[in-house]
Amino acid sequence: MSKKPYYITTAIAYTSGKPHIGNNYEVVLADAIARFKRKEGYDVFFQTGTDEHGQKIELKAQEAGVTPKAYVDGVAGQIRELCDLLQISYDKFIRTTDDYHEKQVQKIFKRLYDQGDIYKGAYEGLYCTECEAFWTESQLKDGKCPDCGRDVHPAKEEAYFFKMSKYADRLIEHINTHPEFIQPVSRKNEMMNNFLLPGLQDLCVSRTSFKWGIPVDFDDKHVVYVWLDALSNYITGIGYDADGESTDQYSKYWPADLHLIGKDIIRFHTIYWPIFLMALNEPLPKQVFGHPWLLMNNDKMSKSRGNVIYADDLVDFFGVDAVRYYVLHEMPYENDGNITLELIAERTNSDLANTLGNLVNRTISMSNKYFGGAVKYVETPLEPQMAAIDDDLKDCVTSARDKVITRMDTLRVADALTDIFAVFKRLNKYIDETEPWVLAKDENKQDRLSAVLYNLVEGITIGASLLEPFMPDTAGRIAKQLNTNLREFEVLDQFGLYEQGNHVTDQPEILFARLDMEEVAKKEEELASRTAKKAAPEEEEGISIPAKEEIAYDDFSKMQFQVGQIIACEEVPKSKKLLCSKVKIGNEVKQIVSGIKQYYSAEEMVGKKVMVLVNLKPATLAGVLSEGMLLCAEDDKGNLALMVPEKEMPSGAEIC
Ligand SMILES: [Zn+2]
Repeated sequence: MSKKPYYITTAIAYTSGKPHIGNNYEVVLADAIARFKRKEGYDVFFQTGTDEHGQKIELKAQEAGVTPKAYVDGVAGQIRELCDLLQISYDKFIRTTDDYHEKQVQKIFKRLYDQGDIYKGAYEGLYCTECEAFWTESQLKDGKCPDCGRDVHPAKEEAYFFKMSKYADRLIEHINTHPEFIQPVSRKNEMMNNFLLPGLQDLCVSRTSFKWGIPVDFDDKHVVYVWLDALSNYITGIGYDADGESTDQYSKYWPADLHLIGKDIIRFHTIYWPIFLMALNEPLPKQVFGHPWLLMNNDKMSKSRGNVIYADDLVDFFGVDAVRYYVLHEMPYENDGNITLELIAERTNSDLANTLGNLVNRTISMSNKYFGGAVKYVETPLEPQMAAIDDDLKDCVTSARDKVITRMDTLRVADALTDIFAVFKRLNKYIDETEPWVLAKDENKQDRLSAVLYNLVEGITIGASLLEPFMPDTAGRIAKQLNTNLREFEVLDQFGLYEQGNHVTDQPEILFARLDMEEVAKKEEELASRTAKKAAPEEEEGISIPAKEEIAYDDFSKMQFQVGQIIACEEVPKSKKLLCSKVKIGNEVKQIVSGIKQYYSAEEMVGKKVMVLVNLKPATLAGVLSEGMLLCAEDDKGNLALMVPEKEMPSGAEIC
């Protein structure tokens, strides 16, 4: 019998910059599900990738002084590396700049235009540059973009539109008759009540305001709007063809079993995407799951807030499986999860070092100490109470698989892990109940001692086999130390398959070392100082400077001060004092030289929001052009500190 196909996707990552753990979390979740389904016997196809078009990327590339393609090549490479580092077992990594994808998106656009679903019109509205989205007045939140909270500005452009309303009734019907389609269910209600029931507006599906997109091939002033481009990856990646020449792979895997996405983009996946598919006459994905966010200290991670953690830093410090375990275990189903180094360390110490690591280590050590590493089950007559303990242990271990499968069927991944660790906890308790060190002292109890250790080794083998999809590396290391193989799911309800007389390793290695919380705090500080603002000085001691002559407001108002963001910075060669920064002010980039090298490294300058005197006459410092001034405070010893906005402010904001 051929295996049942299972197609799972993540959202594709936007290549505007290196993703943080709050972004990477999703691929880890998808990976655990994909690996689990493979072990369950499905023929899994797991696709992830990168979303590489749009105005924001065009701007970023411009700032960096490279072509958009070179820019996205760099970021996509970084994203792929992070996936590999996190041991993501994707089958396909799609990039929306891949040829086959671009060609299909053009064909899809043309087909929808030819059949009348897309028409040409003009768009007038309030535009958010960051989100590349038009909004109506009523959609704004406090006068700002409802998605990102930034300012919007009136804009008008010729554009193609998709007739969303034409399919709205069909979509409402589909959602109502397929309760599993949008998960968790709270997100379904949100989509129905906020968007579908009030009535859908036609969606603008092209742009003329920038070039970095897939051109509309019959009207190349236009590029395809990012969502029609990005969403199509789910079908183009497996061989969809808009002319009806789709591959066998496509017929096998489409419709997708699961689109795993962040809760912030659920609207695009449960309204726009299904409607595009209806128009293409393709079946809808079976399920869209909008997962919650991973917060840093209960705050949304963002580079501009300086509170991001990167997966590579975490893996470097904790190891890949501790990170995988943490993000999978701490993320509740519906509510946002929280991450800090301290929390990961606490979790690692309690669950991974104490519960799991100790169990494996003690079991192997005792096997070596008492039987030279040989593991053998010997039947002995038992007191009823002891027999009940053995039965309870076996029952706990062999019933875990079905519990875990039930959890995973409803994407309760954190609960699945809890169930697996319940097995390891039960095994630890078994050591306390049977007291092997007491049995060891009694010559008549050697057979019982052997059976106890066999039960432990067998239980650990089953637990590790269940753990494999979540922590593949650790599961493999456990199996290696027990000198056995991880087992297939179908036999995990059987107890006693560990080979009689087999030997465990005589050199057990520590699976997870206990972390010293002081070291963790130090690391946390080190990572935070890279991105976050410096803490305020502890003690205030005022200083005085000579008073200057009074000025009129007019004098002051001649000076143009704005918030700028440093997007690049390097040392000025042969200068002890000077740093040369590229400062983004609004949509302009200026080069500014400052004498602050003693106080800031070029590296730590990048990302900072600073106060800039913009209209200072350009000057050449140490042979380098400087087109403005970064404002600093100076103390009586001549130490400098950059002036930064006290609250988050967009680059370009006027200081007045
Ligand atoms: Zn926005």
